[in-house]
Amino acid sequence: MFCATCGAEIQDAAVICPKCGVPTPNFKQPEAPKADQAKPAVAQIGTGTIVLSYILALLMPILGVIAAIYLFVKGKTGHGLGVLGVSIAEVVVYIAVMS
Ligand SMILES: [Zn+2]
Repeated sequence: MFCATCGAEIQDAAVICPKCGVPTPNFKQPEAPKADQAKPAVAQIGTGTIVLSYILALLMPILGVIAAIYLFVKGKTGHGLGVLGVSIAEVVVYIAVMS
C-alpha cells in the first residue's frame, strides 16, 4: 500500500509509515481494558476458589498463605496478594495470642 500522507510505498502489514512516521490504517491504539474483561484470571480460577481462600485465610492462616501463594502464582491476580496480606496479619495475631 501507499502512505496516505507522503505517498511512499510501504508494506501492507506496516502500522506506521517508515518514511514519515504517520500511522497507517493498520495502526491500532492499545485498547483500554474493559470492565467486563478486566478479570480474566479471576474467571479462570473461579470466584469460589478466591472466596474459599479468603475463608481459609481467616480460619487457618497457614493454609490461607498457601492458598494465597497458589492463587498469586497461578492467576497472577491481586487477590492472591490480598489473601496473603490477610493471612500474614492473621499469623501475626495468632503468634501474639500464643506467646
Ligand atoms: Zn508516509
